[in-house]
Amino acid sequence: MSFLEKIAEKLEARERLDFADGVRLLGEHDLPALGALANRVRERMHGDRTYFNVNMHLNATNVCVADCKFCSFARLEEGMPGAYTMTVAEAIAKVASRPAELTEVHIVNGLHPGLPFSYYEELLAGIKALRPAIHLKAFTAVEIHWFAEHYGMTIDEVLRRLMAAGLGSLPGGGAEVFAERVRNKICRDKVGADGWIAIHQAAHRLGLRSNCTLLYGHIETLEERVDHLLRLRAAQDVTGGFQTFIPLAFHNENNALERLPGPTAVDDLKLFAVARLLLDNIPHVKAYWAMLGVKTAQTALWFGADDLDGTVEEEKIYKMAGSRTPEALSRGELIRLIRAAGRTPVERDTLYHVVAEGDALAASPERRRGRLEVLNEGA
Ligand code: SF4
Repeated sequence: MSFLEKIAEKLEARERLDFADGVRLLGEHDLPALGALANRVRERMHGDRTYFNVNMHLNATNVCVADCKFCSFARLEEGMPGAYTMTVAEAIAKVASRPAELTEVHIVNGLHPGLPFSYYEELLAGIKALRPAIHLKAFTAVEIHWFAEHYGMTIDEVLRRLMAAGLGSLPGGGAEVFAERVRNKICRDKVGADGWIAIHQAAHRLGLRSNCTLLYGHIETLEERVDHLLRLRAAQDVTGGFQTFIPLAFHNENNALERLPGPTAVDDLKLFAVARLLLDNIPHVKAYWAMLGVKTAQTALWFGADDLDGTVEEEKIYKMAGSRTPEALSRGELIRLIRAAGRTPVERDTLYHVVAEGDALAASPERRRGRLEVLNEGA
């Protein structure tokens, strides 16, 4: 019996794959067979359903005290070329300029040493006052850790104050690669692996859901990728609050790792497949098109992914690292991409409640917004 046949048997028996399985799968060259295994699991969990949402990204400041080697977005101080910080009013005006069908604002920033904590509370509360039905997925675990240290609060105090201001969930960024060897080389200034996981688990215990990520395709080994995935799986066994795993492909422009080539499309698709096979307790795997490229993201829908992310207007972090994807995809383009892949599009909110599917996808933005308000009242 071949290795992949043995894996298929394990999957059929709902047996967990282990570290050795994961490493060997990532080295597997039979990409179609690997994809077929991941697709079988994906279809067992979700059928053909493929999720997307209507969202925007808001990066209110790129001033950051950290020096992550892969980062093209941050500037160390105000006044440096390219540094910016929006006022709260400017940030809220960006949201106000977006259409009524927007259901989520994804907020991630640099670690700015000169802003008061009230800046972040006012930002969340101001967006909620403007559009109460919008879900605020905001601040990575790295930012939450920074807030606690910089403003002298516990992690729980930070989370509770942000929740009182309107925080709805945490994004998955900042995990990078959990292996200490890698973190020491590429992101030694930010919270470590155990701290990152503890913050997500604290959020889960307070009732928040969150996402998780892996930044791959730079200096990490295949073993370190699998170690990262298994640490996420173990954390999820404890608190169960991760909704979605998002593989983040490294981009090599305008940062200190420019000499590295970055992952190929085959690396991307293998990682999606192996993540789907190893992460048996995380419901969704997302092909984040803004980082992966639209075509690879669409292909990943047959390699374990069941989510294409959203319209993603205003994304800066990967654009500044050389991503060549469009600035935004319209809702109609997302639906077309999913249908062209032979899948069934489902518009979701951040927490995977269905906003529209089937004929309702063609309903007016007002009707869909009404549905979102109902979901929010019930949440
Ligand atoms: S990745 Fe985040 S924490 Fe690191 S330098 Fe960039 S903005 Fe700062």
